[in-house]
Amino acid sequence: MMRKRRQSILWSVLLGSVVLCGGGLCLLSLPLEVTPFCTYTPSFALYDREGQLLCLLRSPDDAWLIPVPLKEMGKWIPLLAVESEDRRFFSHPGVDFLALGRAIWQNLRARKVVSGASTITTQLVRLVLPRERTLKGKLSECLLALRLERVLKKEDILESYLNRIPLGGNIKGVEAASWYYFGKSAKDLTLLEAASLVSLFPAPERFRPDKNPEGFLRRRNALLERLCRRGIISQEEYALYASSPPPTPRGFPRLAYHAAWFLRQTTTSPRVFSSLSFSLEEWLERLLDEALVTLPREITACTVVVENSTGAILAYVGNARFRRNPEQAFVDCLQAPRSPGSALKPFVYARAFDRGLLVPSSIIADTPFGLRGNVPRNFDEGFRGPVSCEMALALSLNVPAVRVARKVGLEDVLGLLQTLGFSRLQRGADFYGDALVLGGCEVTPLELARAYTALSRLGETIPLSFFREDENPQKKRVFSPGSAYMVAEILADRFRFNPLPKRTLPTPLCAFKTGTSYGFRDAWTVAYNPRYTVLVWFGDPQGLPHEELVGIRLAAPCALRIMEYLMERERVWYECPEDVTWREVCPISGKIASARCEGKILAPFLKGVSPLEVCDLHATSLENPSFPWPGEVQAALGRPDVVPLAIVSPVPGRRYFTFPGASFLRLPLRAEGGKGPIFWFVDGAYAGQSQPGGTLFVSLPPGEHRIIASDKSGQSDTTEVVVSPTTFAKTRRDFGAPSP
Ligand SMILES: [Zn+2]
Repeated sequence: MMRKRRQSILWSVLLGSVVLCGGGLCLLSLPLEVTPFCTYTPSFALYDREGQLLCLLRSPDDAWLIPVPLKEMGKWIPLLAVESEDRRFFSHPGVDFLALGRAIWQNLRARKVVSGASTITTQLVRLVLPRERTLKGKLSECLLALRLERVLKKEDILESYLNRIPLGGNIKGVEAASWYYFGKSAKDLTLLEAASLVSLFPAPERFRPDKNPEGFLRRRNALLERLCRRGIISQEEYALYASSPPPTPRGFPRLAYHAAWFLRQTTTSPRVFSSLSFSLEEWLERLLDEALVTLPREITACTVVVENSTGAILAYVGNARFRRNPEQAFVDCLQAPRSPGSALKPFVYARAFDRGLLVPSSIIADTPFGLRGNVPRNFDEGFRGPVSCEMALALSLNVPAVRVARKVGLEDVLGLLQTLGFSRLQRGADFYGDALVLGGCEVTPLELARAYTALSRLGETIPLSFFREDENPQKKRVFSPGSAYMVAEILADRFRFNPLPKRTLPTPLCAFKTGTSYGFRDAWTVAYNPRYTVLVWFGDPQGLPHEELVGIRLAAPCALRIMEYLMERERVWYECPEDVTWREVCPISGKIASARCEGKILAPFLKGVSPLEVCDLHATSLENPSFPWPGEVQAALGRPDVVPLAIVSPVPGRRYFTFPGASFLRLPLRAEGGKGPIFWFVDGAYAGQSQPGGTLFVSLPPGEHRIIASDKSGQSDTTEVVVSPTTFAKTRRDFGAPSP
């Protein structure tokens, strides 16, 4: 029965081929839609700067497919594919009639199917337009193959075939398979590797080297033997190759996943050759992974490394938890808005230097002051009295930073930050207030890294790019070289907290600035030197606080490790720019030293810009010095026991919500500073008193309320709040806290 059927099939094939040869010519002239043969649904492939595959994202139809031109498949794959699958490929018209005739003859003689006559062209037709494996299907396949050959060149047919051939699992095409099995591009395969791949062509799943190594070896060696017979390899080569073990598949790399995801959305090409570095990316992902081991699961990290000369991104770790828990780490933290903590302070100081308001040696008051109901405190909660600008920035003191920002003017600070590219600063200066310089705003880590190029490139920002050869990047001068240089010197890692002249000290590795956002939600460090800018962030993508999240403890060691890795044993530092001049200053007043000053030190000034005031502390005789400290310092020195009274709770101008179902809100009233008990008045009526540092609770109905605190010495502070009926808290972050 079966035999009869086979025979009839074979006779029909013979008949069919005769029909094709003779009368089918008119059918061949029918137009053929070739688009499906020349287009693909590719995966997204991200490569590093040397063409190494970093990350491959599945295609929309769930396949691993990297289409490449034939000329990028190297020497061996096309040659061996033709040798193995269709030796007369370049001479037949799409159907190999010689092979077909022989196949029919052999099958007839053996009275069973011992040989097929499929060509690369008919195989391609089957891959693109799958048909039933019936006689009718076969005939239509042959016909289509003949028609395809009339519109496409041999090379295009071979290219399309090699880009589609299934090679195990969801892997399609030789390029993706080369990366999967050998960790390299098809063009770099050796003859043995190419032969291994090509021997998978007829039955990729059955003879996968990882699943059926013996079957694989049999097939591969059969192919090698054929190559030897055909004189493509020598006997010696054959003996050598045939004894080599089956390859161990490498799998696809998954580095810089978030960069791949981002580039897939923003570029049109399915293959992106980026500026990233495979070795750096891999090292960094491992470093952060190790850093996260001892931290709560909710905390993750992100980092970016920028080459300053080009703005090229060398490494991009969007979420360091991805390495172990991909399903929980899809958020690209590098592009998520966060509070920058103290990381914006250097920009404000650089602006103050540029505007001639201050120099690094200028004395500034680190004393408490009331700040509209919100007392900025230093991180260590202490106040230092008079400090130099240099010291205040190196120690990241909050009060001096606010004083500098006020000197510069909040409008100007806001304009500066907008110029630096912080896109989320859309409100007016009044909205942010003094908190702007302390991180009371949102920036993305990527924006912050970009803004720091204004410092690392001595005043000129450069856009960050995934492509090294970006022509004409939009550089923008934001600071003078001199002021950026002064900031770099202050933030340099050598003797960081020592206010001594630093020019004679060894070349630093880098400058760095840390940041810790309010309530321990973000830990930042940006490190830079003339070559690189490195940003490291640790935090909880949910925005919840964790006591571990302190910039200097968590992010700074990582950033410095990365810098050391990048610089190996090399040290490169900034030359002092021409707009900087060095002068002797009085170490006490920070102003130009007079003959009366003792222990003069050299300090940088901006030529023609910086104020050149002469020391007035030592202006009178040495026996009777006057001490004209800045006003705020004097006020604090004169009345050391009196600290200005300021309401710290509630926060002014903010909206508070009642608890669900409650018609009142119990609001804590708390003030800092002042002397003795604090007396509270709500909407003009006396509400009670609190002890210094203590809290008085009052119940307030929805509406606007005016709250006054006053002490016995007559100091007072006023604040206004709005209480609203409840709406449910959306996140824990909003809960109980004032929402802007
Ligand atoms: Zn002096």
